[in-house]
Amino acid sequence: MPAEANGQETYSMSKPIGLYPGTFDPLTMGHVDIIERAVKFVDGLVIGVAVNRDKGPLFSLEERVAMVRHEMDRIEKQSGVKITVTPFENLLMQFAEEIGASIIIRGLRAVSDFEYEFQMVGMNQALNDDIETVFLMADARYQSIASRLVKEIARLGGDISSFAPDHVADALRKKYS
Ligand code: ADP
Repeated sequence: MPAEANGQETYSMSKPIGLYPGTFDPLTMGHVDIIERAVKFVDGLVIGVAVNRDKGPLFSLEERVAMVRHEMDRIEKQSGVKITVTPFENLLMQFAEEIGASIIIRGLRAVSDFEYEFQMVGMNQALNDDIETVFLMADARYQSIASRLVKEIARLGGDISSFAPDHVADALRKKYS
């Protein structure tokens, strides 16, 4: 709401708590880019690492959480925004309510992401219409990166150094050595 100050309209906007959920198996430069954009408009960010047994993750939950946490120290310092990395197994909207998040952050890559996200938002709105989903696009350099492809390239011995942070690339090389 605009407030009158010295005849000029000023806007005071309190920032929300954001929740960025995903599998992060493993964290890529695409995820990092989305997180760096998200911290510009949230007061605090929770990265929800989904247990996701169905997907049969390559990295354990503990490993995925540790990889995300490792990278967050730098972003926290640069942005001044508190970032919490938390595993979750319950329904996304329940988790968002539990942590007091009012926005869910998702990254959009190609049209292929759209249909799935479109359905998810529809269902999530039906569960809790007060929590908004916000879509961000990564820098053009990172838009095509997907954890699945990074794992595939690493498995076949390709160079993944531009797709994942150094410590993640090292962990991938170790997994496949
Ligand atoms: P999920 O298993 O839900 O797809 P991911 O760990 O793959 O979770 O991704 C979490 C979120 O990050 C999703 O919203 C996904 O679209 C987004 N994301 C992943 N890679 C990129 C990328 N290269 N550019 C933009 N968004 C991305």
